[in-house]
Amino acid sequence: MPTALITGITGQDGSYLAEHLLGKGYRVVGIVRRSSTTPYERIAHLVDKIELLSADLLDQHSLVDAMAACTPDEVYNLAAQSFVQTSWSQPVLTGEFTGLGVTRALEAVRKAAPRARFYQASSSEMFGKVVESPQSESTSFYPRSPYGVAKVYGHWITVNYRESYDLFAVSGILFNHESPRRGLEFVTRKVTDAVARIKLGLAREVRLGNLDARRDWGFAGDYVDAMWRMLQQDRAEDYVIGTGRTHSVRQLCEAAFGAVDLDYRDFVKQDERFFRPAEVDLLVADPSKANTQLGWRPRVSFEDLIAMMVDADLARHRGAR
Ligand code: GDP
Repeated sequence: MPTALITGITGQDGSYLAEHLLGKGYRVVGIVRRSSTTPYERIAHLVDKIELLSADLLDQHSLVDAMAACTPDEVYNLAAQSFVQTSWSQPVLTGEFTGLGVTRALEAVRKAAPRARFYQASSSEMFGKVVESPQSESTSFYPRSPYGVAKVYGHWITVNYRESYDLFAVSGILFNHESPRRGLEFVTRKVTDAVARIKLGLAREVRLGNLDARRDWGFAGDYVDAMWRMLQQDRAEDYVIGTGRTHSVRQLCEAAFGAVDLDYRDFVKQDERFFRPAEVDLLVADPSKANTQLGWRPRVSFEDLIAMMVDADLARHRGAR
């Protein structure tokens, strides 16, 4: 039975990846950071099937110890300060977790599990002020936020460790991926949660920033399969994962409110607080390398994804009443 170690297992991607790997017969070990509150709701249904180790991306020794304790065959580094907006108010902490944390994870692999295959969660935010569209593995980076800058560091240190130490280390450049488990601060989930509350009479409006921003949005459950596929290849290479289609925040609102027969124009208010100091340009993936080499394709459409999220938020708020 192969062992997979996941940092960030309490997050959206970590919980889907844990399910995916359990389904394939893996022993799944998750790293969790000690805190006074336990953010385990995304993995509550899995806790009997996985093992949890306490470690922190800011603490080198704890990572080496975790790696030595479970001798993983595969390591998925999904932990990060992952919210772009917060990276402007906490740029140094973002650099520590999202940038240097990758070096610490790689050092731990090198010291304690050098034969393990390593996956780094890189991001389309690295393309930022894009130099070409769509973006592929060969597109140059131009990050537009402290988060994007930190992810570029994480990407290159992964490439560097692959080339310096002959580690099987890959960087998956994932475009936005959403689900009912997406954090409420991200725009898709913020909107679908608001739609559910408005529909049930628990809220009257939702305040958003730039409605013309466009993203290439896919379903997180599809994207964790791409991560796993990258580590099953003969050669360690980097891959872009996305749908190749974009929608605006306005279209997101139309789809989400439309799913419950409401008109978004009656409920969406624009608010300066949610505009960003700098925006990325049109981010859209060219996933052709993943299509041909990994045999990977997204399965859930944008419309189905948003309907799935609205349904889940409706069910959650109904249950809480
Ligand atoms: P990101 O791509 O990782 O930054 O994902 P987000 O879901 O946080 O943001 C996606 C886009 O939605 C960005 O271009 C935001 O500027 C835009 N957006 C517009 N209004 C909002 C809002 O109220 N919250 C968030 N998070 N994003 C918003």
